Amino acid sequence: MKHIHLNTSFLSLEKADLSSEERNLLDRALAACDKAYAPYSGFQVGVAILLDNGQIIEGANQENAAYPMCICAEPVALSRAKVQFPEAKILWMAIRVKNEAKPALEPAAPCGSCRQIISEYEGRQKARIGLLLQGQEGLVYKFDEIAPLLPLSFSRKFL
Ligand SMILES: [Zn+2]
Repeated sequence: MKHIHLNTSFLSLEKADLSSEERNLLDRALAACDKAYAPYSGFQVGVAILLDNGQIIEGANQENAAYPMCICAEPVALSRAKVQFPEAKILWMAIRVKNEAKPALEPAAPCGSCRQIISEYEGRQKARIGLLLQGQEGLVYKFDEIAPLLPLSFSRKFL
């Protein structure tokens, strides 16, 4: 028997420490929060994806009265990106959260399902997808790829 330790590390930054391109992407993700359909939870999620062709694609969560049918913002944005620009690679995803009733003052990481979906897109394009996470304000968490958020991920190598 042996213990295996999984270590995760990422950068926690002030927004001012980011490049103007990264700050712009975070601003676009916050603006995308206003496109969320979240009448039940009030929890708005906005995503802005930067493609290698320079295009920015937005997504926002879409809730449903039948709760299991709710769609997270990440797959909305990823699907839009790959349908509109199938040949383009996704370089960065900025993910912001907003809640009028309970202000989101720290970054919220993608849910487990979305981590798996992002991992699939990385495999599909054979390139990492960087992540920038921020709440309505405050610190930014920066990841160069999904792996630190999804250790021991399931992938095509098992199929
Ligand atoms: Zn999700």
